[in-house]
Amino acid sequence: MSVASERSEAVEETTPASVDVVVVGAGFSGLYAIHRMRKAGFDVLCFEAGDGVGGTWYWNRYPGARVDIESVQYSYAFDEDLQQDWKWPELFSPQGDLEDYINHVADRFDLRRSIRFNARVDSVVFDEEERRWQVGTEAGHRVRAKYVIAATGPLDATNVPSFPGIDTFEGELHHTSQWPREGVDLRGKRVGVIGTGSTGVQVVPEVAKVAGHLHVFQRTPAYTVPAHNRALDPDYEREWKENYAQRREMMRHHPNALVLPMTQHGSVFDHTPEERLAILEEAWRSRSGLLFFFLFNDVLTDIRANEVVAEWFRGKIREIVKDPEVAELLCPTTYPLGSKRLSIDSGYYDTFNRDNVTLVDVRRDPIVELTPKGIRTEEAEYDLDVLILATGFDAMTGSLLRLNVVGAGGVPLREKWSGTPWNYLGLMVSGFPNMFLVHGPGSPSVLAQMVTQSEYQIDWIADLLSHMEQEGLETVDTTTEAERTWCAEVTELANGTLFPLADSWQKGANIEGKPQSYMIWVGGFDAFADRCDQVAAAGYDGFVLKP
Ligand code: FAD
Ligand code: NAP
Repeated sequence: MSVASERSEAVEETTPASVDVVVVGAGFSGLYAIHRMRKAGFDVLCFEAGDGVGGTWYWNRYPGARVDIESVQYSYAFDEDLQQDWKWPELFSPQGDLEDYINHVADRFDLRRSIRFNARVDSVVFDEEERRWQVGTEAGHRVRAKYVIAATGPLDATNVPSFPGIDTFEGELHHTSQWPREGVDLRGKRVGVIGTGSTGVQVVPEVAKVAGHLHVFQRTPAYTVPAHNRALDPDYEREWKENYAQRREMMRHHPNALVLPMTQHGSVFDHTPEERLAILEEAWRSRSGLLFFFLFNDVLTDIRANEVVAEWFRGKIREIVKDPEVAELLCPTTYPLGSKRLSIDSGYYDTFNRDNVTLVDVRRDPIVELTPKGIRTEEAEYDLDVLILATGFDAMTGSLLRLNVVGAGGVPLREKWSGTPWNYLGLMVSGFPNMFLVHGPGSPSVLAQMVTQSEYQIDWIADLLSHMEQEGLETVDTTTEAERTWCAEVTELANGTLFPLADSWQKGANIEGKPQSYMIWVGGFDAFADRCDQVAAAGYDGFVLKP
């Protein structure tokens, strides 16, 4: 017997041949989908590539990994007892606390029995005659399902740039999103970090504390603000817990799915330079993380307003970083503030004042290759014991395309999305009946707090499926007309902002050869959810439901 058939026998023992719903992914979205689908009366089975739950917070174990939204907000709302019982030790949880929380949720709601771990889905094919999806995993599972929910994460598919010679490097090579559970011993070592996005900004200060020497290879500098992370104040926690229901309702009606305890100061130009300075300085000193970003209402729409704040920001960098040349290199100038996600950090700029840290400008002096000893740029060589790739993700579409989905008429999703990632409401793609996306392209995605979004989208899907079962309907699909209209609206809204001006993963610009279009709905989570509610109330306008 071949190894492959032994494997498939082993998985058949524990896996049903057919279920109502297959969920792919056991991150925040997938776990809630299991719970919600069960509650709606469906048989549900989840496949997860990793050996544990948590998604982002399972994979990204790099030193410094931490959420950039307060944990009292970035958490589930679906169970009042859960949100009352759980205690967050810190204002912004580190990866470990988020992983503890999500494991607690999996146990508390008995979700693990529906999950097959170490089961990477590698084929999802629609059988038109049976009107069922055939889902297969690399481990050999084969399951038929009426519905598929792809909760595969917008930031899950690791991006490892194809540096020539990458396989010849003899030191340790780690991508931040595949960080070993047992950690990496960096003490006293010569370490390189490539990448200075949100991940690089978090990992660099932590590595610098222990490495013998750290080289940071920067192509584009980040804008990053102090997190001011701290232990969660018991009075603050009590106050949240006393008002949770009302606060969650506020999030549902907020563009970023947040409660922001702050004053917005109108336009940048409503203030004298002195007033503006006072507002910005106060925010830098005492505001936590992203709150900083919402100080003025025109920073993301008016390039002149943006530049005023960006220049003040560069002044901050010049103030902190002692070497003026290094400070200049750290100053972002090629894209508007906030058009790539603003990072939050714990001592990032100050790290460049350390004697054991060197910033290498690989925009001016590009990386040519990796060698057995380290990195060779056009002008220099850097010997390294450990190389950390903080090079991000094939975002939004990457993990969905890696499912190898084939829809009605034998059309692969890869073909359908060879240009624009067509979708309606970020939830469905026409020609792929009964298959739903969570945080798909066309949804608000990272522009709003994502746990609340997951719950919203999954509730919406659950209501649709319940409606179909009640009405005896077999399939739901969207139309090319609906998805074209929706995608045009996504683009039009984005073009009214500064977001598309950055070469970011949000428009696919970080992956060589990836078709570029701005993929996120910038109209706000509140407007997005209102629209989805209206569509449902109008009998699922833009969807085709068939018996
Ligand atoms: P994920 O958490 O990405 O989970 C997807 C799961 O699907 C993974 O477990 C993956 O293994 C599995 N999967 C994918 N493909 C397959 C397959 N083919 N077969 C089987 N399983 C598969 N958002 C915020 O709002 N605030 C933050 O502070 C924040 N910080 C972040 C920090 C990092 C380092 C990253 C990478 C992202 C961050 N995000 C943040 C975004 C974050 O991804 C979402 O907040 C949220 O965790 C997404 O949950 P999810 O369940 O939809 O996807
Ligand atoms: P990212 O924002 O895409 O940043 C990747 C970095 O790698 C960029 O600096 C990029 O440079 C660099 N890079 C990529 N390929 C390179 C190459 N070939 N040579 C040199 N440099 C290269 O990825 P990320 O930092 O992992 O963040 C992704 C998203 O995850 C964030 O935007 C955020 O939404 C989320 N996140 C959030 C947090 C948080 O604060 N909680 C933490 C981490 C991640 P260029 O910019 O020049 O391409």
